[in-house]
Amino acid sequence: MFDGPSPAGMTGPEIPESHPRYESLLTRHRIEDGVDRGLTSKQGLIAQGRGEAFDYLLGEETIPSADDAERAAAAHLQRADHPVLSVNGNVAALVPGEIVSLAEATDADIEVNLFNRTDRRIERIAGHLRAHGAERVKGQTADGRIPGLDHERAKVDADGIESADVVLVPLEDGDRAEALGAMGKTELVVDLNPMSRSARAATVPIVDNLIRALPNVTAHAEALRGASPAELDSIIESFDADAALAAAERRIRDA
Ligand code: ATP
Repeated sequence: MFDGPSPAGMTGPEIPESHPRYESLLTRHRIEDGVDRGLTSKQGLIAQGRGEAFDYLLGEETIPSADDAERAAAAHLQRADHPVLSVNGNVAALVPGEIVSLAEATDADIEVNLFNRTDRRIERIAGHLRAHGAERVKGQTADGRIPGLDHERAKVDADGIESADVVLVPLEDGDRAEALGAMGKTELVVDLNPMSRSARAATVPIVDNLIRALPNVTAHAEALRGASPAELDSIIESFDADAALAAAERRIRDA
């Protein structure tokens, strides 16, 4: 059951909490609402549909290998010099408050980074995040570039994603995930499809629904707040990305 915060007007009074598919319906409602508010693109609806199918096969729960990945991601964020959390239209619609909490727990920057970039949508998403408590939202300066991508999709902030050492990119598209990897960044990807290019390009692939993954990364980050560098390094080194992807794929194929 979804028990996270429910921003006003985003839950839909027509969904009773006792409904067996409450979490899934709530997620759908948030994405629809995101499209109505001009936060999420229509393509975001299609991405949501793909995600739901994988989540259904995963049993709509955080599998043990995903929890390990969430802990490894938290260790990377705590160990980073300059961590950045990248936000697109689906992330803004689904987990705005949770992104702000994770940024606070890890001293990370938040940057809006869109596949279909428009200034209007970036401004709306930044405003939505500020309404959920974000102090500063990057992504509007666009004075940095990701090498190897076409002009619009390459745009990032020079003091944000371009200069980050660790980037959390929930629901990133495959091309950009590969290009960020080629820049030598540590990439933490949340994607329900363990076979997607983004998940395969990641240093830490988190195969879990964003609405479960983000609060869990934050909980791990809070638990690791006082950890020594050696302790964080040992969590980072013991995580095996290929094994995590294989475990998720096994779960899906055995469903
Ligand atoms: P590739 O990474 O192989 O290039 P893609 O970028 O074409 O794939 P999209 O169709 O853009 O993939 O789909 C977005 C991805 O986001 C899908 O793999 C889907 O499983 C995932 N996804 C959608 N909603 C969520 C969610 N709530 N939590 C986690 N992952 C999600």
